[in-house]
Amino acid sequence: GSKSYQFMLRTKNPCGKVPKKLYLAMDDLADKFGIGTLRLTTRQTFQLHGILKKDLKTVMGTIVRSMGSTLGACGDLNRNVLAPAAPLARKDYLFAQETADNIAALLTPQSGAYYDLWVDGEKIMSAEPPEVVKARNDNSHGTNFPDSPEPIYGTQFLPRKFKIAVTVPADNSVDILTNDIGVVVVSDADGEPKGFNIYVGGGMGRTHRLETTFPRLGEPLGYVPKEDILYVVKAIVVTQRENGRRDDRKYSRMKYLISSWGIEKFRSVVEQYYGRKFEPFRELPEWEFKSYLGWHEQGNGGLFCGLHVDNGRIGGTMKKTLREVIEKYNLDVRLTPNQNIILCDIRRAWRRPITTALAQAGLLHPRYVDPLNVTAMACPAFPLCPLAITEAERGIPDILKRVRAVFDKVGLDYNESVVIRVTGCPNGCARPYMAELGLVGDGPNSYQIWLGGTPNQTSLAKCFMNKMKLHDLEKVLEPLFYNWKRKRQGKESFGDFTTRLGFEKLQEMVDKWE
Ligand code: SF4
Repeated sequence: GSKSYQFMLRTKNPCGKVPKKLYLAMDDLADKFGIGTLRLTTRQTFQLHGILKKDLKTVMGTIVRSMGSTLGACGDLNRNVLAPAAPLARKDYLFAQETADNIAALLTPQSGAYYDLWVDGEKIMSAEPPEVVKARNDNSHGTNFPDSPEPIYGTQFLPRKFKIAVTVPADNSVDILTNDIGVVVVSDADGEPKGFNIYVGGGMGRTHRLETTFPRLGEPLGYVPKEDILYVVKAIVVTQRENGRRDDRKYSRMKYLISSWGIEKFRSVVEQYYGRKFEPFRELPEWEFKSYLGWHEQGNGGLFCGLHVDNGRIGGTMKKTLREVIEKYNLDVRLTPNQNIILCDIRRAWRRPITTALAQAGLLHPRYVDPLNVTAMACPAFPLCPLAITEAERGIPDILKRVRAVFDKVGLDYNESVVIRVTGCPNGCARPYMAELGLVGDGPNSYQIWLGGTPNQTSLAKCFMNKMKLHDLEKVLEPLFYNWKRKRQGKESFGDFTTRLGFEKLQEMVDKWE
């Protein structure tokens, strides 16, 4: 039957930029060919679920016509390049977003087959900035890249998917350390961008009961002047392409190459392709998580408004209202890596009517979003993801309610927050290994519990418990939150608290709990 031919489609939107036209096209397509809702992903893109194979060409064609180069996000290629979604008119933000665009263009496969596959020979190629074309084809920086029609990917594509994020100092709205490459704009005292700090080797995916697979944080590789960035990205990608493991998909992400080589050897190989040495990594301020929810100044006279979207799923009243507002005021939007949406370039005079429209739909009420929900994420899992072992998106509303009830019971304040992330399998699409409380599906209605991430997403959680049955959630969380409330030091976050106490003590608390 037709049912077995359903497809999921992802768009490509560097920095989460979505022109009005594309938003409206996606909104239509979701009704006509999808399941009636729009889903925002943790990589600042849309996913359309439930498209039938016979409709695929029409759907792809519509997306392409609505915004050109938004295609191609599956397979072992560079995934959507992240950058802060905030439309701030600040030199460093603009430069981060421009860099993300250029990196995305650099790593877009050139072979026509890739596109033809999707749009039936219709050639879709957006105009590329000349510096991108030059960097792709110019090997004068280092030793020659192997000759092939695909200057970056070679005759074979990368061993696995490849994730890149670009940001500015302190803004960790992009979960920078979870990417294969993390790029941070470094500016001088006048705010003029001068170069980039580069992290490499982050990644979330792992396999249950296989200790040799693991989530990993990116680590500093070095600093490069700004005009070298595309050459450096190319050199890193080619290093992975030539050396990443291809014999076993479980170990083919770049993090395993760096783990096995060590950062020194990795750096020296990259330097051979790059043709120069890295400078020492520049000092950076503490990372902060930024949600961008609510109203903000853009810095150019305009305003932007960030709206929380539960698990990135836009449907019902929200879908209708967003469409009306975006159409009426002609607004472009941005998608955040936390699956939220930002309305951009709003004139001051529109603030009041837009606020009214959003408030009428219940989208701006202060208690519309539980604070626990602001930082929470779940992956799609059942019934949409073939790898799912158990529920995530469909299960998280109830999980958050139960956590809220535990908070109330042990006397934790309404505004206290804990970063909670749930995934249906160890692949970790919603980045559960960075959560303060991560639930990773490991059986029917059963989860691993991961503890120890921090609110600003800079430490890796560890596995505290296996096979926790969902009905035992309170048995595990009550003692932990009770003790956090009573034994925390100052404003200590839950993640820092669990790390300071250590798993042995925490386990004791859970075991002794009545
Ligand atoms: Fe699917 Fe696993 Fe990713 Fe969830 S984490 S979307 S279940 S692959």
